[in-house]
Amino acid sequence: MYSLGFPRLYLQGYGIFDRIGDEVKRFGAHPLVVADAFVQNLLGERIETSFSKAGIKCEMLQFAGECSPSQIDFLTSRAKEFGSDVLVAVGGGKTLDVTKGMALNLGLPVVIAPTLASNDAPTSRVIVTYSDEGEWLGPRFLTLNPDCIFVDSQIISQAPARFFASGIADALATYYEAQQCLKKGADNFYNGKQTVTSQAIARICHETIWQYGKEAYDAVCRKECTESVEKVIEANILLSGVGFEGCGVAAAHGIGLSLSVLTPLYGDAKGLLHGEEVALGILAQFVLEGRTQEEIEKVQDFLISLNLPVSFEQAGIAEFSPEKVHLVAEASCKPKSRIWNMAVPVSVELVEHALNTVARLGRERLSRFN
Ligand SMILES: [Zn+2]
Repeated sequence: MYSLGFPRLYLQGYGIFDRIGDEVKRFGAHPLVVADAFVQNLLGERIETSFSKAGIKCEMLQFAGECSPSQIDFLTSRAKEFGSDVLVAVGGGKTLDVTKGMALNLGLPVVIAPTLASNDAPTSRVIVTYSDEGEWLGPRFLTLNPDCIFVDSQIISQAPARFFASGIADALATYYEAQQCLKKGADNFYNGKQTVTSQAIARICHETIWQYGKEAYDAVCRKECTESVEKVIEANILLSGVGFEGCGVAAAHGIGLSLSVLTPLYGDAKGLLHGEEVALGILAQFVLEGRTQEEIEKVQDFLISLNLPVSFEQAGIAEFSPEKVHLVAEASCKPKSRIWNMAVPVSVELVEHALNTVARLGRERLSRFN
């Protein structure tokens, strides 16, 4: 079987946030908006004005903390009390995921309004859950993709550029991982093979990031929303999101996300964004693939130009000792890891070698810049 899923509606534009009421009205008459305190402060008034202009009353629910099963269940019970018939998530990754968790519990449509373009979460079915203490619990899955993705590019371009860069790294991984999954014949996130469309989406994502990524990042550093920024927002959110689910992921995610095993043990890699982990994962994947130093340097230079990490020191890992390298490699090669979607040989030893190579090449590359 070949398979590919999409959100039902994708909307993106400068300053469109004031139209959120009208757009949400397509999906229900009793919306519940979930946002954290920061976003409510920033956008609460605009949200209420927009819904009242659209002639419907919205309830607002403040979310704080983790996307944990207990938070999801608590917010679900509140949504039931309100009698909500559509959920609207406004904010970053955890807010989006907790709202998707509620939509899964209640079987309601969900509108996703991301305030950052920092990763693949908005369009995706994946819900990443943690314990209330912040320990990773693994994914849950919405039955289908979110119903509507509502992206105000003005808001995205005014957020700190580090988030935008992280989204670019996550989007950069999509095509490289898709290629490995295709060669391996691995299943995508719909338990099927890549369609021609999935492959085309991954390819366009790749082209857009390479062509406009740096220019767009520089514009976001200046808080400007140029044509390049619009293109890269679409790549970060839509192309990368639909692309990774329709193609599958591999070592860039398998290795990158395993860096977090060092956090509870050593306090390393703390506060690293998803895309920053993936940036290092791409480099490690390239080594596993046996790519040339020239190809690796091209990606290093691109990441450096976006202030993304190319060395483990930059990722907040004080001293990447053989023990730490081994722990990360072991976590990367767990039975359920996406690393097994790689079409080249993979083992703990090979991943250790890849990590050590990335460490060495990173140090060498950065010493040339300093
Ligand atoms: Zn990702």
